[in-house]
Amino acid sequence: MYEIPNLPYKYTDLEPYFDEATMKVHQLKHHQTYADKLNAALEGHPDLAEKDLIALIRRADKDIPVEIRPTIVNNGGGYLNHSFFWEILGKPAKPDNKPDGTTIGVALEDQFGSYDDFKKKFSERALALFGSGWTWLLIDVDGKLSIENTANQNLPEEKKVALLVLDLWEHAYYLKYQNRRAEYIEAFYHVIDWKAVDAKLKQSGITPAEIKA
Ligand code: MN
Repeated sequence: MYEIPNLPYKYTDLEPYFDEATMKVHQLKHHQTYADKLNAALEGHPDLAEKDLIALIRRADKDIPVEIRPTIVNNGGGYLNHSFFWEILGKPAKPDNKPDGTTIGVALEDQFGSYDDFKKKFSERALALFGSGWTWLLIDVDGKLSIENTANQNLPEEKKVALLVLDLWEHAYYLKYQNRRAEYIEAFYHVIDWKAVDAKLKQSGITPAEIKA
């Protein structure tokens, strides 16, 4: 049985950027529903239920019977993507919330020119996403960072490691920001937990490349 993880902060901790009402409905209703539908689809399939969920989704065409395949891919992806998203958010440590003093902060400067240049590129990608999906910061095995979009609840590409993600489904921002996706994206930078992102970089075992712009 997949259960939604507890948030490592309070629902009110990301205010005023991500509001309490949105955080609650997002985790307790949306994320919970992905978990519930995933569990329901896996019922009666103990062989699938015990497999690693990421690996199962990546091999969906081979390993999942066609009648439950879209349900597991969509809801399993939703379950995993949200679990990741909660991990890289946190209460802002300081007003500008820049990743100073972290390896990821240095890597962003090395590869994008400056933190502000990274933000500009990330925001552009996020605004360019049509419909529902996610914008990711990924690192490849050579240490090169990239910003990429995935549609719906698709996972990022297998050969890269995810460091950061932003949920761009309307349910993530509509209560507070309505159609103002750009304002929601700008708010996101205030609630990134850069220490958590840095920990994901360290866990990957990959050394960021120095690519002078
Ligand atoms: Mn969401």
